[in-house]
Amino acid sequence: MVSGIVQGVGFRPFIYRIALKNNLRGYVRNRGDSCVEILADGEEWDIKSFLRDLVERKPPLARIHEILIVPAEDSSVIYEGFKIYASSSEAELSGSVIPPDIAICDECLAEMRDPENPRYNYFFITCVNCGPRYTIIEDVPYDRDNTTMRDFQMCDFCRSEYTDPANRRFHAQTVACPRCGPRAYLTANNGEIVECADPIRFAGRLISEGHIIAVKGYGGFHVAASTLLDEPLERLRKAKHRRQKPFAIMARGLEAIKTFAEVNTWEAEALLSYARPIVLLKKSESYYLSDLIAPGLHNVGVMLPYTGLHYMLFDSISDPAFVMTSANPPNQPIIKDDDEAFKKLGGLVDYFLLHNRRIAHRCDDSVIRLHNGRTVFIRRSRGYAPEPIRLGVRAERCALGLGGEENNTACLILGDKAFLSQHIGDVENLETLEFLESASRRLIRLTNSRVEAVACDLHPKFATTILARRLSEEEGWQLIQVQHHYAHAAALMAEHGVSEIVAVCCDGYGYGIDGGAWGGEIIMGSSDPLEFRRMGHLEEQPMLGGDMATRYPLRMAAGILHRHVSIEDWLLENSVHLPYGREEAHLILAQLERGNIKVRTTSCGRILDAASAILGVCYERTYEGEPAMKLESAAIGGEDRLKVKPNISGNILKTTDIILSIFEERRKIPIRDLAFSVHNYLAEGLADLAMKIALENDIRVIGFTGGVAANQIITQRMREIIESNGLVFLTHELIPPGDGGLSFGQAYIAAHT
Ligand SMILES: [Zn+2]
Ligand SMILES: [Zn+2]
Ligand SMILES: [Zn+2]
Repeated sequence: MVSGIVQGVGFRPFIYRIALKNNLRGYVRNRGDSCVEILADGEEWDIKSFLRDLVERKPPLARIHEILIVPAEDSSVIYEGFKIYASSSEAELSGSVIPPDIAICDECLAEMRDPENPRYNYFFITCVNCGPRYTIIEDVPYDRDNTTMRDFQMCDFCRSEYTDPANRRFHAQTVACPRCGPRAYLTANNGEIVECADPIRFAGRLISEGHIIAVKGYGGFHVAASTLLDEPLERLRKAKHRRQKPFAIMARGLEAIKTFAEVNTWEAEALLSYARPIVLLKKSESYYLSDLIAPGLHNVGVMLPYTGLHYMLFDSISDPAFVMTSANPPNQPIIKDDDEAFKKLGGLVDYFLLHNRRIAHRCDDSVIRLHNGRTVFIRRSRGYAPEPIRLGVRAERCALGLGGEENNTACLILGDKAFLSQHIGDVENLETLEFLESASRRLIRLTNSRVEAVACDLHPKFATTILARRLSEEEGWQLIQVQHHYAHAAALMAEHGVSEIVAVCCDGYGYGIDGGAWGGEIIMGSSDPLEFRRMGHLEEQPMLGGDMATRYPLRMAAGILHRHVSIEDWLLENSVHLPYGREEAHLILAQLERGNIKVRTTSCGRILDAASAILGVCYERTYEGEPAMKLESAAIGGEDRLKVKPNISGNILKTTDIILSIFEERRKIPIRDLAFSVHNYLAEGLADLAMKIALENDIRVIGFTGGVAANQIITQRMREIIESNGLVFLTHELIPPGDGGLSFGQAYIAAHT
């Protein structure tokens, strides 16, 4: 019995071939627990050689976790040759899973371009080494009948390849061709078919000319538009109520990317990997794409085509790239069904480029960033989910984590593996909540797990907390609530298999043990016994108007500054950036005079926001992390000319000092240097505080997690300081440092409690 990722990766054909090579008789078959069962009958020498081949020559996409060898129950059965048997639904083992979606392979791409090939120009050409998996599988074992490919009857040609042991498509469940497979077609925005001979290339031309087109892909719909024209992007921003949030783009090839962005070796490798994530790349000096793609940011999210359809879109035009943003209404999951697409996108797009294969499960594109070659997941989804993350320590029991509120995922921990779901999104409404529940149940089903505990945030009102409570009651799972930053710290410990850590957890907001708004925490974690303690934090700062201070960071800045300098003139000058102008500025001033602002926060994100507003970089947060992201962009190439010494007392890092300092120097020193100084102050201060706590507690490992850890300037500076002091510095490389990794930390705690 072989467990791991062994279905949907050409494993049975591979077993078949090495069995014949080693003169073995018997069979191989898929099972309902995502494992593969092999019966091998032959000489001992041949069996040994077979097992060696099994490990050493496995297909590139296969992952072997365990090989379980037992003597055959009935040794009297005589097998004639070696066969691939029909799958069995038997399920006793757990922990195997099906693979993620895989980008079109080079061989399939070459065939698609070959006029002599029967699959010439076939947009959904795939083989055993490539194509959709996770998004088309409705049930296990991975057979065509359990996927959305069951709607397409294989033609004789495809069947002949499917049954030919020498063929690359031997037992490839997604095999299809122009005669028998899914078809592509173009419709107007009312759903009426647009007659054309070559809908995909025609759609490419329409995009290039300035039309907006919804494109159905593997895991959902994209909205595609030109990267060179402003008009469609203006239209898109208006209709999507996305004034500033960056759009991802898909480039025709690596060379095209190099004309507008800087690409180092690590980034090129990531772009070309079979996961084909969106990679955040630094815009080059000669960046010439529309400024409406990623306004105010130094980088742009770029991916390469990952299906034949994507490649064909670029065939008859010369555009370097198209905008390819996931089609989802605000706070809702990515759209996957045609009807829903017509309803929700009809008013936004000009055309639909569709295909007639159903999407079983939605899956957004993944987004990564590379800090000096180290992967930082902004979003871990297509191409990665549900491939498990191997843990250094085996969990005592199986636990499910449901995450927090923003950028959510679910995570199932079983044995020494963590299965992180695809990106779910902001769980604030029914649609995303249902998506979270179905994705969780699916992980449990695919891995054949028996959950014992369910973990969620400590926040009593989060939708995820309420869902966890319900599941706990319905399923009899133990409910475990985990403090937000403890979960971040646990995630670092779990990913790196360390037993002790001083974790710097910086983000926008997490509900504290005391009910407060935490977000700049030094958490000490130990595994034996599993325990977390808040050892230090950033200075508490007033949040004038609560959530309003998150949306309008001028309020945050005013709250910090007013105790030390007169801000009246400055605030009135800047009142155009407040929704109610001067009137609001006067109200703010009066409120500050009265004092006693109840809501306070230790959030690192809010400090970056305040700095962003003081420096005139960003006055309104229209998407998560906007002011802080723009501040980082503003700081690129800057230097710390303020050199404010970190002010630490009683394990609290003061933040007022740096905010006051940039306020006073804002007209004398270039914005770039001031923005950089803020980053440097926080990095040095947090590193110093963490090192002090580590030293006092005899711990040698310091980690950095939370959404702020995606910030390259802060992370790199902290690494320099901590490593030069002879301590170990850890960051996340397999899971997102932001709240997409929260479920992982929660599940880890629940599995070990
Ligand atoms: Zn292929
Ligand atoms: Zn066919
Ligand atoms: Zn967080």
